[in-house]
Amino acid sequence: MPELPEVQTVVDDLNAAKLIGIPIVSARVFWRRTIAEPSVRMFCRWLKDQNFKAIGRRGKYLVFEVADGHTMLLHLRMSGRLHLVSASVPRNKHEHVIFSFEDGRQLRFHDTRKFGRLHLLKDPKKILDRLGPEPLAAGFTAKMLTKGLTYRKRLLKPLLLDQTFIAGLGNIYADEALWEAKLHPCRLAASLSTSEIKVLHRNIRRVLKRGLNNLGTTLGTGKGNFYSVANRRGRNKDVLKVFRRTDLPCPRCRSPIERIIVGQRSTHICSNCQKI
Ligand SMILES: [Zn+2]
Repeated sequence: MPELPEVQTVVDDLNAAKLIGIPIVSARVFWRRTIAEPSVRMFCRWLKDQNFKAIGRRGKYLVFEVADGHTMLLHLRMSGRLHLVSASVPRNKHEHVIFSFEDGRQLRFHDTRKFGRLHLLKDPKKILDRLGPEPLAAGFTAKMLTKGLTYRKRLLKPLLLDQTFIAGLGNIYADEALWEAKLHPCRLAASLSTSEIKVLHRNIRRVLKRGLNNLGTTLGTGKGNFYSVANRRGRNKDVLKVFRRTDLPCPRCRSPIERIIVGQRSTHICSNCQKI
């Protein structure tokens, strides 16, 4: 699933492609459930003859500001990705929504597993205000993380994945950050010392920045894997320390990486470096 670095890579590609201000001739929907709200008919009607005036990110959402004041949110979920192609390219069966621009290009939402969702809203606050802080923002300090963790009786990893706690972290970067910080994912949040929180804070930011610099993590080669709008694979898989490296040696101590289940999510740890 795309996480902060992957979504930001998509946003950066969209901005590099200079879509801002180009009139949208039409929006067409081929799989109704991709449109969470409003109705498909209203979605297409509201976007026709509009244009995007800004494209950004909040947590794992792509945020498209529409010229008329609406906001379109896109959550890629498991396998969603965006293709920017010429209108002459035949539609692929996994392309469920197509935005046609006046300059002859089309932005297509491709989603093999069909969990991705688009929202077109008058006010995006009802969704975006639920999200926790942006971990790469200057305002996300160790102090802020300390405040969040203290008194929490939850396990560390499920809390890090909770989008209302921190926005944008997912399974890959949570596992990597916990390994870097030498913290077991089943530690109780409230049990962390001040120095452990500082180390965790630094490493959450470090692994996300690294992922972003490497243009995201692409794990496999199937159509459901992450590819940027420019159809590039992210290079970050090559530098992962634990995620999907079961039985391979820990880069720090050479003990085999283990795969455990925490909060129903597959989790990768070095039990020698990450003691409970
Ligand atoms: Zn180790």
